[in-house]
Amino acid sequence: MSTEVLEAMGMLEALRVTELRSLLSRMGRNKSGLKKDLTERVVHLLHNECSFELLFAVQELHNLRQVSKDARRSSRASPVETISMPERVLAGKPGSLTVVSKEQQMIQLPFYQTLETVLPPTPLVPVFGGPLQNSDFRFHLSSSQQAQIQNAQSPSGSMSVQVVLRICYSESIGVEEDQYPANISVSVNHTNCPVQCSYSSSKPGTEPSRPCRPIDVTPLLWVSFTNRFSVTWGNFGKRYSVAVYLVRVVSSQELLTQLRSTSVESLELCRQRVCEKLNSDKENEITTTGLQVSLMCPLAKMRMSVACRARGCAHLQCFDASFYLQMNERKPRWTCPVCHKYAPFDALCIDSLMCEALESSGEDVEEIEYLSDSSWKPVRRDRSNKESALHPPKHMGNHSQVDSSVVDLTQGSSDDEDLLNEEMVSTHLEDKKVHFRKSGTIKTPRSKRRSRTIN
Ligand SMILES: [Zn+2]
Ligand SMILES: [Zn+2]
Repeated sequence: MSTEVLEAMGMLEALRVTELRSLLSRMGRNKSGLKKDLTERVVHLLHNECSFELLFAVQELHNLRQVSKDARRSSRASPVETISMPERVLAGKPGSLTVVSKEQQMIQLPFYQTLETVLPPTPLVPVFGGPLQNSDFRFHLSSSQQAQIQNAQSPSGSMSVQVVLRICYSESIGVEEDQYPANISVSVNHTNCPVQCSYSSSKPGTEPSRPCRPIDVTPLLWVSFTNRFSVTWGNFGKRYSVAVYLVRVVSSQELLTQLRSTSVESLELCRQRVCEKLNSDKENEITTTGLQVSLMCPLAKMRMSVACRARGCAHLQCFDASFYLQMNERKPRWTCPVCHKYAPFDALCIDSLMCEALESSGEDVEEIEYLSDSSWKPVRRDRSNKESALHPPKHMGNHSQVDSSVVDLTQGSSDDEDLLNEEMVSTHLEDKKVHFRKSGTIKTPRSKRRSRTIN
């Protein structure tokens, strides 16, 4: 077969039905049938009755195709701009300029370790008149990236190395967490890619509620071909950027190990903190002989194993690090269960004084009291007395139900359910405050009773 015929066969693949029909009619052949039949007929002609006229006709149609494609490109300048090749490909091109610029990165997420940037943050540019926009991108996986994905595949099918797509506000790249645009939908290589998101209202322009997790596109990728993906989004005046990263998924267990090795507050610092807390309460004219804290995790309703709190928290009460990390692995809210402030992974620290108390007190001890010299003693209580103090009758109705729903990590839940759970956790804590005050060790002046929070 001649080179010309081979070239013509290649060009044939890109032709549309109408073009194939015009080609066949020009050659005086039957132009009816499906695209498959039409292509077959032209291929047969090329193989058996190849003429200069046929080759010329194919070439002509091919050229026309290119011209119209180029015309469409120049009239829609922005989508071409948004198609940006990975840095490494650009840099590796011989003769191309080496662009020295600090690559913008999205914020690091505890559960995703960025291994490589596949597509750096690239703006979503509105092209159409209405709110609904569509932006196309493409990228190619390098052979080392392909190998990293394949080597990480476990027999169970779960992937610890993934290619993820992330979207955030253009102006907050590297500062804020991800935010999907309104009306988001994603397709990868022409296949719909599910995006898990929930909306707080159906009002046009409403963005999906945070957390907006990285979208795993790995199962839809073509390993050795160029991958195309398309983001449909609502343009309501905000600017977003999309990026693709090769990441390693980090487990809550790994994060716990990391926390234990890098973020432990020393005994000395912990004692200092207790002293300061007790002294500041004195300055505020509150007669304080000691401070009681619970050894039970307010989230898990179980004795803590690793006691931690966030650096920004003003309270001495801790929560269980392992349980907190597991909850955030399921839904990364990073909210302190005690004071409801933002408590991201980087801000967590383990309280060694509390851990010491957990280790050296009996399993039956559920509370300790910090004394003004920063020592502590276990608080033992009569069981029946404690039950009535911890569970005032007005909350009796929903306690058993609350305990099970808060602890159960296996069940997925909606935003509303989670909010409800948080409410219930705080209700529990309020119960404990009531309990602390009733114990008589902390005497709060009547005027300050409602405004002070002691824990
Ligand atoms: Zn060509
Ligand atoms: Zn807190």
